[in-house]
Amino acid sequence: MKRLDVTQETPTGRTRRARKMYRVLHEKYPYAHCELDFETPLQLLVATILSAQTTDVGVNKVTPILFKRYPDAAALASADRVELETLLKPTGFFRAKAKSVMTLGQALVERFDGEVPPRLKDLVTLPGVGRKTANVVLGNAFDVPGITVDTHFGRLVRRMGWTTETDPVKVEHEIGALFPRKDWTMLSHVLIFHGRRMCHAKKPACGVCPVAQWCPSYGDGETDPEKAAKLLKFELAPGAVNPYASAAPA
Ligand code: SF4
Repeated sequence: MKRLDVTQETPTGRTRRARKMYRVLHEKYPYAHCELDFETPLQLLVATILSAQTTDVGVNKVTPILFKRYPDAAALASADRVELETLLKPTGFFRAKAKSVMTLGQALVERFDGEVPPRLKDLVTLPGVGRKTANVVLGNAFDVPGITVDTHFGRLVRRMGWTTETDPVKVEHEIGALFPRKDWTMLSHVLIFHGRRMCHAKKPACGVCPVAQWCPSYGDGETDPEKAAKLLKFELAPGAVNPYASAAPA
């Protein structure tokens, strides 16, 4: 298969191609969802902050104990720092994360009655909360559509030729303009799933990619279907069986 040339593509052509690719990827990952475990907006906010520089699987191992020990913003605000650091140690950068979570708790208590505010403009005033984290919380805990430009999302939209922007805010706006608002949250999940499982940073599995024919980066990774199938992966608990390990080409 030849790599698609998009150099002469019109804005309308790009929108159509992006929507087609999203439809196909949505069919591939109809179960795409936020992979952090949570029950409340506060839990998701904390889990998202903890997910920096580590995997969602790693965060999910720590948060059940964390949320039981510190069930609300006031408890986090007055946490015993050493105890909190010990709890967060498996997630890495535990000292900084313990500090972030405590100052977040304090800010929520002082300015928002201990509740997580449901608006972007309020969320981004909280310590340690940028647009990415705020959009995760809005989209998944408040059902407010949001585009989450994390490392996977940014890499994929550039590879797929949907944007050339590298600034996350510009990416968010440019990609947002290609899709109806109602699709933003699921679009984020689907692309993050694709990035984690198939379109990896180092070696994308192009040979089994369901959107290869519309992708201008086809061939940056492995194009042989058999070899590409072996590259597929999930974030799994140690010892778990990878259901894609012997996957047939898509
Ligand atoms: S896996 Fe390859 S073909 Fe598929 S989106 Fe990524 S770069 Fe494009």
